[in-house]
Amino acid sequence: MPLSTFQKLRYARHLVLKEIGEKGQEVLLSSKVLVIGAGGLASSAIAHLASAGVGTIGIADGDIVELSNLQRQFLHTFAALHTNKAISAGEFVRARDRDINVHLHPLFVDEHNICDLISGYDFVLDCVDRFETKFLINDACVLMKKPYSHAGAVRFQGQAMTYVPDKGPCLRCLLQTAPNGATCQSVGVLGAAVGVLGSVQALETVKFLLNIGRLLTGRVFYFDGLSFETKVVPFSGRDPDCAVCGEHPRIKDLSENAKEYHAACENVQGDTKQ
Ligand SMILES: [Zn+2]
Repeated sequence: MPLSTFQKLRYARHLVLKEIGEKGQEVLLSSKVLVIGAGGLASSAIAHLASAGVGTIGIADGDIVELSNLQRQFLHTFAALHTNKAISAGEFVRARDRDINVHLHPLFVDEHNICDLISGYDFVLDCVDRFETKFLINDACVLMKKPYSHAGAVRFQGQAMTYVPDKGPCLRCLLQTAPNGATCQSVGVLGAAVGVLGSVQALETVKFLLNIGRLLTGRVFYFDGLSFETKVVPFSGRDPDCAVCGEHPRIKDLSENAKEYHAACENVQGDTKQ
């Protein structure tokens, strides 16, 4: 649908970018993006996606807003304490722009609900903390052929990559198993650092939707906010032995791999979102 006069003003700085323009803005407005996890990564990612005019934004999180979240999860306010994070984040988006369709999913993703959840979206953002859930999102996206952005951050550091079906390796090609230990809860995280990674995820989302630039597909972006040593490291393509996207995958059905996704599950109910 052609842009209205209001939209031409609202997105004027996009319209002068030759990579976006009116046609690109129309694509963004008709796009559907799902953000899983409404914590620190999502605060930055959702703020940029909503501001950019992504027309439909889904937000999935079963957690509630706790006082210790407010140090970095700026979508949430004191008034939102003890309310569901997806609902709280939805209020933020609606305050940005009433025209954005916000789909709220106040639940934790699991092996039973994730495939239905992601099926209605063009792109998915992994904004969760637990690596077991990151693998669940990865496996669901690989099996459903759904493109997605992975990111993670602890302390002052983080990383990001983008999976595109039939084009690039998945998270399991990079990491065979979940790394032990470090979570935001145990080692801390600075909001401004995790916000950089959430912003990278929003940037990758817009690039994918508009088919512009070069995605972090087959490459990992590493960021260190203390030293500002920032690098993009290629990794050697799809792993033929990958458990989910390899030649002979062992993961063909999420429910058969449920045990892995529920490992260390006691953290789910706590303050675990980045
Ligand atoms: Zn793989």
